[in-house]
Amino acid sequence: MARPFSKAEAETFFARLKKAMPEPRTELVYVNPYTLLVAVVLSAQATDRGVNKATAELFKVADTPAKMVALGERGLTHYIKTIGLYRGKAKNVIALSRLLLEHHAGEVPRDREALESLPGVGRKTANVVLNVAFGEKTIAVDTHIFRVANRTGLAPGKDPRAVEDGLMKKVPDAYLLHAHHWLILHGRYTCVARKPHCPVCVVRDLCRFPDKTRVEDEAPKIRTPAAATPGAGARRRGS
Ligand code: SF4
Repeated sequence: MARPFSKAEAETFFARLKKAMPEPRTELVYVNPYTLLVAVVLSAQATDRGVNKATAELFKVADTPAKMVALGERGLTHYIKTIGLYRGKAKNVIALSRLLLEHHAGEVPRDREALESLPGVGRKTANVVLNVAFGEKTIAVDTHIFRVANRTGLAPGKDPRAVEDGLMKKVPDAYLLHAHHWLILHGRYTCVARKPHCPVCVVRDLCRFPDKTRVEDEAPKIRTPAAATPGAGARRRGS
């Protein structure tokens, strides 16, 4: 087993990610906590880009639970049918919108238990909403974070919950609020699943991955994380 990260190493790890991506944000586009919640529910097993394409038109007509319920399942399906598993997601979005109206005055609750009781909302989605909409220090472990945490040795774990718990202990408090976005963007653009871009990785000297890509293996093609570029990644429409 790889040597665990020391406090100083974890500090350096996040300081470097912060320097590389000073303003990390979600790549999902939303206009208020409700549309963020809907976008995250729609993003399960789908790309943020695909979700944004669908919600660009959807949120023009339904950016509140009341408008979504008025649109109805069929109406909603029309907007999201390009997204995987759209039938089930449409059912969940309408059902959760009804529950928000019935139990939370049409507002998204700032409460994990209440969030997780909504259809289609699990721990990961609740963590994203608590972090992005309400500024809470949570880490939503998706496929990218799971890979980066295990590969680097920062917070190894068999399942997302184990990784989340490990990260909550390992990430220095000063970086906790944005850790989730730094790790996602790092996994999405640098520590990619196949042939990670190790030669240009800012944390390669700290990373414990034994099979790092070598310079001679391939000239890395790096995509730019729009959300990490100051001024180029405003996610909230109209902001
Ligand atoms: S060195 Fe390679 S494996 Fe390690 S974090 Fe960087 S890109 Fe990922």
